[in-house]
Amino acid sequence: MASVQPPALSVERVPDLFPEKFRQLLDTVRRNRPSDDANIIRQAWQFCLEHHNGQLRASGEPYVLHPLEVALVLADMKLDSTAIAAGLLHDAVEDTPVTTEDIVAKFGEQVAHIVDGVTKIDKIQFANREDRQAENVRKMLLAMVSDVRVVLIKLADRLHNMRTLEHLSPDRQRSIARETLDIYAPLAHRLGMGKLRGELEDLAFRYVDTITWDQLHEAVEARRSEGEQFLSGVEALLSEKLRENNIKARVEWRIKRLYSIHQKLVKSQTSIDQVYDLLALRVITTSVQDCYAVFGIIHSIWRPVPGRIKDFIAMPRPNLYQSLHTTVMGEGGHQFEVQIRTEEMHRIAEEGIAAHWKYKQGGSPVSARDEQRLAWVRQLVEWQRDMTDPNEFLSTLKIDLFPEEVYTFTPKGKVVVVPRDGTPLDFAYTIHTEVGHTCVGARVNGRMVPLRTKLRNGDIVEVITQNGHTPSRDWLTFVKSSRARNKIRHWLNEHQRERAIDIGRKLLEREARKYKIPLSQFEESDFARLAADYSLATPSDLMASIGFGKYSARQVLNRLAPALMHPQQEPEAAPITPGADAVRRVAASSGSDSLVVEGQNELLVYRAKCCNPIRGEEIIGYVTRGKGVAVHARNCPNVQNLLYEADRRIAVEWARTAEEKAGHPQTYPVKLTVHCDDRAGMLKEITAVISDGNANIRTVETHPGDAGDAQIEFVIDAEDVRHLTLLIQGLRRLPGVRDVTRSQKL
Ligand code: MN
Repeated sequence: MASVQPPALSVERVPDLFPEKFRQLLDTVRRNRPSDDANIIRQAWQFCLEHHNGQLRASGEPYVLHPLEVALVLADMKLDSTAIAAGLLHDAVEDTPVTTEDIVAKFGEQVAHIVDGVTKIDKIQFANREDRQAENVRKMLLAMVSDVRVVLIKLADRLHNMRTLEHLSPDRQRSIARETLDIYAPLAHRLGMGKLRGELEDLAFRYVDTITWDQLHEAVEARRSEGEQFLSGVEALLSEKLRENNIKARVEWRIKRLYSIHQKLVKSQTSIDQVYDLLALRVITTSVQDCYAVFGIIHSIWRPVPGRIKDFIAMPRPNLYQSLHTTVMGEGGHQFEVQIRTEEMHRIAEEGIAAHWKYKQGGSPVSARDEQRLAWVRQLVEWQRDMTDPNEFLSTLKIDLFPEEVYTFTPKGKVVVVPRDGTPLDFAYTIHTEVGHTCVGARVNGRMVPLRTKLRNGDIVEVITQNGHTPSRDWLTFVKSSRARNKIRHWLNEHQRERAIDIGRKLLEREARKYKIPLSQFEESDFARLAADYSLATPSDLMASIGFGKYSARQVLNRLAPALMHPQQEPEAAPITPGADAVRRVAASSGSDSLVVEGQNELLVYRAKCCNPIRGEEIIGYVTRGKGVAVHARNCPNVQNLLYEADRRIAVEWARTAEEKAGHPQTYPVKLTVHCDDRAGMLKEITAVISDGNANIRTVETHPGDAGDAQIEFVIDAEDVRHLTLLIQGLRRLPGVRDVTRSQKL
């Protein structure tokens, strides 16, 4: 970020800049690593002053402030003097005429190697953002395997750049902040560096989404003093209890970080008023045993909120984070989160890999934990060797940083993130709501797949849409993203009512026709009055109530025109006729035909459980009270019983969904009982016939009889009557099969 200016003509008289800050750096190093050689740091600082002399940062300050601040961050991480010297020199090769050879000559191979690693990362410039990041990160990780200090310097560099981002143009601010959220904060998280990650996130959040940040900041500030007062009361009470119980522990409290509050809000889709995670308390003990003791004491003072207790001591997170978490209900309904951990756990949570990253001469990691942390990096590097496309590498990297997400691609190579186990529908809704609504199928890696297919990392997904297609309630059973779920729900709620109104109107019209009452003689105001009679706001509400089966059409008609409904006029129950004939009588003004049965999970039209009709069977609809229209097989015994309320009967017919037209037949579970000889191989032959007939077998149950026979019950998925008939015929042809029957009930 230097604005490069000509190198200084004279190097003898370099001004001694920021002497205070440099002393602070040396003090920190002396405190954290007393046996380290401070000379190399002094030399590096001198070198830095000489070669960056005259250069300015975008803020107008001398450039050397930046490497000095970076070195301070590294010193706070307790890194060794080699790393700190390299930190001071990290921009020297890139932004000054200094070469790597110069560094080797003056500071030795190790420092030069680290500076070189950082320089390489900085140098790579690709045309588009994703390429650049992928390549950056790849180099970074490669470097990391040989020396993790390269990555720590890069993280410190980024931290200081983020702290001083205000001086750049808004465009640069946003793109650097975005990159920080995409790559550096997750990387810090993966390395267990909670403190660094937190600061990076909060700094970046402000630039990436300024409006949200402002709102949240204001809301949190408005609650700060109340929260602080509350928490200090809590602290006093808890500290006293700890003394009573002879437990030595530190109690800290804080208002949570904005970005973590923001993430909670997004995840739980709540407003700031409902966030109980604003307040956080931390107890730091001297032993694991005390952690659990404190846990008990806290729950004896305050009531825990169910479902919020987590034991990360017994089950550490992948980045080795350990703590006990609980959320409790304090006075006045204030909830607050408590984290309980030992000093050691605390250090690891805050500093991560830097917490115990020690260098021996060779620079190899010493602890098994660090080895474990680096294992995933090595794994990534293994993978990336086989990849030539940086985008591919980026997606691999993100996969590991965000195990809850799946990275997929559009045919044009755009990355689309869906939740783990997400489906093509989640993908479609991520692209656009309309694409989701009209989605009828999907091709994954060039092959047609069912919509409920789970997507995997790297899948190339092509969504097939069809104008006029609409969401199905069934979709809710398999979409994973809250976005898709909300959009589908919203659509269903809106359209179910429309459908209910439509059905209600048809039912009323049909009823009126039976009594030869012309509905056209009534004014809108008559219907409005009628609706008011039922305590409903509008005539549409009334029609919807009829459609939902709350009121029968006859009952409503009777109120509308009591005088016209003489008992002797009541017609005979209309004979049940197949669809087309009834349609003409049912439908009149609205233009569309009889009710159409699509999915089996629709609220308004559903298949009756007593007979489970499948496509192709003759069906009859029955308007239930409050549950919509039940569709029965015409030969269902219940239909006969239902005839006494003939006005509730309605013609229905099967419709093909767009999904089916796109080549994905809907299937219906059917229970078949095969009566057969009880002989070896029988079951195998039967299942072969079913699977050769392209039917899925859901369950099998065999019941041996007493006369060398057996009954085998299958629940299979059949597409329609024709499919089922073929299957039954096939089974009947098998030697040893005596009979095949279908049970209507499942
Ligand atoms: Mn830098």
